[in-house]
Amino acid sequence: MLVDKFGRHIYYLRVSVTDRCNFSCIYCSSQQTDTHQVDLDNFLRVIKVFSKLGITKIRITGGEPLICTGITEFIAELKKLNLEIGITTNASLLNDKILTQIVNLGVTRFNISLDTTDRNKFEFITKTKFYDQVINNFKLFTKFNLILKLNCVVLKNINSDIEDIINLINFAHEHNAIIRFVEYMPVGKYNSELFYPVVKIISKLNKRIKIKKITNIPHFGPGSYYMYNGKILGFITPITTPFCNSCNRLRLTSKLTIRSCLGYNYEIDLKNCKTDTEIKSKIYEAVNNKPQQYSFDTTFKDCMRTIGG
Ligand code: SAM
Ligand code: SF4
Repeated sequence: MLVDKFGRHIYYLRVSVTDRCNFSCIYCSSQQTDTHQVDLDNFLRVIKVFSKLGITKIRITGGEPLICTGITEFIAELKKLNLEIGITTNASLLNDKILTQIVNLGVTRFNISLDTTDRNKFEFITKTKFYDQVINNFKLFTKFNLILKLNCVVLKNINSDIEDIINLINFAHEHNAIIRFVEYMPVGKYNSELFYPVVKIISKLNKRIKIKKITNIPHFGPGSYYMYNGKILGFITPITTPFCNSCNRLRLTSKLTIRSCLGYNYEIDLKNCKTDTEIKSKIYEAVNNKPQQYSFDTTFKDCMRTIGG
């Protein structure tokens, strides 16, 4: 079992399997232009060691994980390790065949990123023309019994308008997805003028629709949650209400480095590890050096695509 020096039990690993992406979201992609594609076998080798040390839950992210050749074979190998597996994707590269394959491999948790249902705003935020694919791909999930979450990063004066928010809530609920509004974090090329405290949405919503706070919902991650029309909506507030005290995770970046905190500029390189024993000692090192809280300092070079959101 992995426990850090602040008594936090670490059992969750986020893996950025690639920093490549077919989108260029304005809050995510940075000036960083070089991309890295470490062979998925190298991730697998490292994850096997993590699982022996007590990691039981994993989220595959990126960059765009579905851009990786061999991603389904990779998931099949992970499943042999008896891990609970989730995927975070922009959904643009999904189709019925790929989704069915992934679900049949035992992936039960999907986080889809969608920041607006407005085509123009979508194109502005993502710098792509994938609007129709993403919107239509939500329908693919309806035949499966899955935990589907829709994550929206709220950007001031871009998608923070209450009409946009209500449209997105309705869209999520029509597709049986739990919607979560996420605060913009200072990673990579950060524009502080776009920061929007998502708690403001709660008071605006209260004037328009009937929402009711709920507590004690297991497996939903940090944040505050509300009920609207019998469905859940969440507010993830890493900046205005940090949840570092209950952090249970480590990150494996697309460069094959361990990052013990998303918002702390410290990483341990695993690329030159020759044996599992070496990997193991680096994992312990990362856990021992996990900071109590993020700092989000300005020396950040990597963007979210590398670190894995
Ligand atoms: N490409 C996939 C996707 O978009 O879902 C997975 C990778 S993306 C980096 C993972 C999540 O990080 C997305 O939900 C995205 O909205 C979020 N994200 C990226 N940059 C962020 C930032 N600066 N602040 C908050 N969330 C961010
Ligand atoms: Fe790509 Fe996801 Fe980042 Fe958008 S948020 S640029 S889809 S990695």
